[in-house]
Amino acid sequence: MLLRPRNGVYVLPDTSEAIIESLRHCGVIACVTAARDYGLWTLDRGAEEPAHTWVHPDHRPTRVAIEPHPGEGACCLFHRETPLDPPDLQRVGILHCLVQIQRCRGDEPFFAALESALRLRQIDVGQREILREAIPAESRWLVDFARLDADSGLESLLRLRLHHLGLSLTSQVPVPGVGVVDFVLGDCLILEADGETHDGAGRHADRVRDAAAAALGFNTLRFDYALIVHDWELVEAAILSAVSRNLHRSRAGLTW
Ligand SMILES: [Zn+2]
Ligand SMILES: [Zn+2]
Repeated sequence: MLLRPRNGVYVLPDTSEAIIESLRHCGVIACVTAARDYGLWTLDRGAEEPAHTWVHPDHRPTRVAIEPHPGEGACCLFHRETPLDPPDLQRVGILHCLVQIQRCRGDEPFFAALESALRLRQIDVGQREILREAIPAESRWLVDFARLDADSGLESLLRLRLHHLGLSLTSQVPVPGVGVVDFVLGDCLILEADGETHDGAGRHADRVRDAAAAALGFNTLRFDYALIVHDWELVEAAILSAVSRNLHRSRAGLTW
């Protein structure tokens, strides 16, 4: 069985709703919707938001930028800029996608998506330079600041926000007897960003890790994804308070 989003275009039935919707407009998925398809971190607002659709600015199909489903409001968020790199059959090019995220969502989601594209080796050095030139001058430092080895969107976000506070951190640090901790600030302040697996048995394991780390002279601050993303002020206050008391500097004097 095949579906026909528009005349002359056929897709397999397991094609995503967003792709079918974009094809109906003679467009392709774009921005954060395309980023998800590329496997990039989007720090997004959930799947319920409308598809971001790009339609070539010279193209004027009847279902673009009008209200396709009367009374239901906009079915897509449209992007109409000139492409930076060519689209494929269903999505904008990766550089175009990243530039759209910077414009549509701002610096933080752009930075997280960029670091994941770098980690997945979807962008080479030449493309990185093209991207740098394509975004506003005041955001270009983000392209220079991005690393190839960021482990998650949460890490990208945390590193960027702490950089704004003049703090740098090391990620995925092996600590003897404790295991690999998410981040270390200074030489002895551990920041753990817990996912959803830290209940039940995981919860006990976390306490063991904290105790083992404390025995070695580390201090641990533990946050979860929701706190970091939605209640940053509180997280920032906790980190700055710890730093003001020098909890990130050990007596061994290893200050960095
Ligand atoms: Zn967008
Ligand atoms: Zn639509």
